[in-house]
Amino acid sequence: MAIVALSTPPGRSGIGVIRLSGPDSLSIAGKLTNDPDFTPTPNTTTLRSIFDPYTGALLDQAVITYFKSPHSFTGEDIIELSCHGSPVLLTTIIDLTLSLGAHAAGPGEFTLRALANGRINLTQAEGIRDLIDAQTESAARQAARQLRGELSNRLQPLKDLLIEIIVPLESSLEFVEDDLPDLAVASISAKLELLRDQLIDLSNSFRSGRLLREGLKVVLVGRPNVGKSSVFNKLLAMERAIVTPIAGTTRDSLTERIALNGVPVQLTDTAGIRSSSDAIESMGVERTRNALADADLVLVILDGSLPLTAEDHDVLAEVQSSKQLIVINKTDLSSKLDSTVLKENVSTVRISAKTGAGFDALRTAIMAPFASGDLGGDSFVITNSRHYDLLVRAGASVSDALVHLNQRASEELTLVGLHDALRFLGQITGETTPDDILSQIFLTFCIGK
Ligand code: GDP
Repeated sequence: MAIVALSTPPGRSGIGVIRLSGPDSLSIAGKLTNDPDFTPTPNTTTLRSIFDPYTGALLDQAVITYFKSPHSFTGEDIIELSCHGSPVLLTTIIDLTLSLGAHAAGPGEFTLRALANGRINLTQAEGIRDLIDAQTESAARQAARQLRGELSNRLQPLKDLLIEIIVPLESSLEFVEDDLPDLAVASISAKLELLRDQLIDLSNSFRSGRLLREGLKVVLVGRPNVGKSSVFNKLLAMERAIVTPIAGTTRDSLTERIALNGVPVQLTDTAGIRSSSDAIESMGVERTRNALADADLVLVILDGSLPLTAEDHDVLAEVQSSKQLIVINKTDLSSKLDSTVLKENVSTVRISAKTGAGFDALRTAIMAPFASGDLGGDSFVITNSRHYDLLVRAGASVSDALVHLNQRASEELTLVGLHDALRFLGQITGETTPDDILSQIFLTFCIGK
């Protein structure tokens, strides 16, 4: 049965693309174009009038593209109708396709069909989702690499190596009466060590990968007038702000997203921390405390042109347990701040929000505690916690196998770990992923994809 969905975002737009996939897509398109023999040339576009088949009313002119099975994204016949982007029109046409036998696609159902028909594997499907959801260019680049099959290509030699080890072990179980000769044990053990190290290296890249995907929460605190808003605005202006409004921000604390080194950073300018009897101000204080509790890094802004005040000390005490960076602002003015009172083990950056001095160092210092490896660069990193978890499990299973092998335990025990490792790797690319997990994964996709 064909599935149908609007593949462009809802709302008014220049064009809206309705996508049909399934064996009856072509006949549904034939009814909409009032041409029972409608068989356009695959992979080329055709301009056609779209009619209501029940009343004969002309609805729109659409550019139709036909992708013939099996050479399509899903592997099935696909029809894409590029209509004018009127929400009313698009709903009408989709309703007509439903009445002609299509059913409304669920989240990721097109991609699920592509997976079921062997057009892509699971990591590629997840790459498509992550590309659509990417918040920065670097995250999009990583997702595109995964979409091209880079993760599965990297896993394939590891799987091959596992099989290369498993097969002789299995046959030795069947045919050999004696234990494995020392030489064979040494050679298998060397291969397993290599395999384990590669799995560990790949899983370790998740530290960078998670950062690219989930980003950092950075919170600015400081007493009034130290220049928090000026620093906040300067950071926003220097970095291209990511245009996704964050819900729930109020006038007392302001949150914006920027990209630092390709990492999405959620930057929050807070209201004061002072306890207050004023109800609205207290709410602001409460919100500041919540933001602090949630922060990956706290920027404590101090005014370098004045001695530290009691209020500054209150702020410093409040953030004591947070990961923090001391930012001494207003260095364009003569320095009055005695920085010897600051804790020694906390990093300090001197800036001027007025002149922009020190901001490069500030941005480097913000990323320093988190950056590992080349974030915006060429290395391929694991960005998905599901992949990370399975890689760690595969690595642990190989380690177990290695222990059993070196202890000269029975080959069966060694093989258990190796088969587990192979199964975990297979779950990453989808060959051995249980159905309930697959459906969970596809629930995180958007409809129309
Ligand atoms: P907030 O209350 O902490 O958000 O501080 P604001 O950003 O509103 O700044 C308070 C005052 O300090 C304003 O008059 C700013 O123009 C001034 N200010 C902020 N940063 C600097 C700086 O680097 N140098 C100088 N000279 N003045 C600054």
